[in-house]
Amino acid sequence: MTVKTRFAPSPTGYLHIGGARTALYSWLHARKMNGVFALRIEDTDRERSTDESVQAILEGMEWLGLDYDEGPIFQTHRFDRYAEVIQELMDSGHAYHCYCSREELDAMREQQWANKEKPRYNGCCRDRTEPVEGVDPVVRFRNPLDGDVVINDLVKGEIVINNRELDDLIIARSDGTPTYNLTVVVDDLDMNITHVIRGDDHINNTPRQINIMLALGATLPEFAHVPMILGDDGKRLSKRHGAVGVMQYRDDGFLPEAVLNYLIRLGWAHGDQEIFTLEEMLEFFKIEDVHGAPSAFNTDKLIWMNQQYLKTLPAENIAAQLQWHLDNQKLDTSNGPALTDVIEAQRDRAKTLVDLVSSSRYFFEDFEAYDEKALSKQFKPGVDAILKTVRDQLSELSDWNPEAIESAIKASCEAMDLKLGKVGPPLRLAVAGTPMSPGLDVTLSLVGRERTLARIDKAIATIEAMPA
Ligand code: GLU
Repeated sequence: MTVKTRFAPSPTGYLHIGGARTALYSWLHARKMNGVFALRIEDTDRERSTDESVQAILEGMEWLGLDYDEGPIFQTHRFDRYAEVIQELMDSGHAYHCYCSREELDAMREQQWANKEKPRYNGCCRDRTEPVEGVDPVVRFRNPLDGDVVINDLVKGEIVINNRELDDLIIARSDGTPTYNLTVVVDDLDMNITHVIRGDDHINNTPRQINIMLALGATLPEFAHVPMILGDDGKRLSKRHGAVGVMQYRDDGFLPEAVLNYLIRLGWAHGDQEIFTLEEMLEFFKIEDVHGAPSAFNTDKLIWMNQQYLKTLPAENIAAQLQWHLDNQKLDTSNGPALTDVIEAQRDRAKTLVDLVSSSRYFFEDFEAYDEKALSKQFKPGVDAILKTVRDQLSELSDWNPEAIESAIKASCEAMDLKLGKVGPPLRLAVAGTPMSPGLDVTLSLVGRERTLARIDKAIATIEAMPA
């Protein structure tokens, strides 16, 4: 049987980092087993579902590279099918109309509280044969009264729930619309899902869903409930811990490869290996090895992971992400060096792509001001003459590349009988505007001949204009 998994987000917000991890595990399991991965949008809560959220989820999946073979399937397109299954359950006696009013249900609950019983529907309409005049009934599922539901959860192990713990859940509201547990069951069965991999916040729904599946005569899928992600304070990860939306991580300068690698490790391990290529993830990942206990999100570790990927990914893979950031910051790159060259020059010192952009602006556009501290240290009377000598040597180069540039700088030092320590720092400040840049040969080469010479001229003028 073909393995089939799904990711089934409710479009009521962006793609949360916890949802992304569930999606990753589900995707990995399908890909690893040469199976099928489907995306289902659970949008039946029309008040809370929005198109923007759907777009945000699709965008997040795409950014992470979690491609799906089927979908997106929208639950709101399937109301006829849900109505059909509700009718089927009515016809087979597994469901019944309930006419209890809000007041009656409230009274029932209060009575149960008073008797120190767990509040639950007491089944009073189970055997009703006559409708109640003027009342639109809801439909309840006739849950078995005894026996156990056993879940052999692939992550959590065996979970046993006695049916006496469950009550007759509403599967259709009085306006006929289906409720959440019904739609999930119908879809998982119709889609032939073999492995339901989802957050453990749904674990209470699972025995109810299993009972409905059994009533429909279905073969049960496997279940794997993935624990939630905690913040650094041990509480469930939420906005107050910082970024929780996946796209926020893109905006903050993380690479999708690093986020995926971080997420797979958050709650799963293979020895003490930290960095996994996609091939290794597919080879080693086993849903059964996902930890049953929740894990805490650690931003420092994610940053560390991102650094590793910035250092080692092929520059071409980073370039597309970098281009997004440059465009986002409205930096015109058309007259600048190749992004791959900038990446090679800067990759070792950046933690994020946002860092990389801010430390690389001078490759693409002229800067307004010099770093103040470096300015007062480097631009002093006499330095203009040094810069003039270097400029002359550089302007004579026929080839503009790191080797040629390096020998021109060397030749200038020799001509002036100065150590590189006297020439390099003011030259760097003149060309980059900051005392931090890659090697001078690479920096000047990337800045380009025209810009370099113009910037040296500007620095000379700046020094000459300084009060003596
Ligand atoms: N729509 C549910 C959610 O976003 C997931 C349901 C499921 O995976 O079964 O939490």
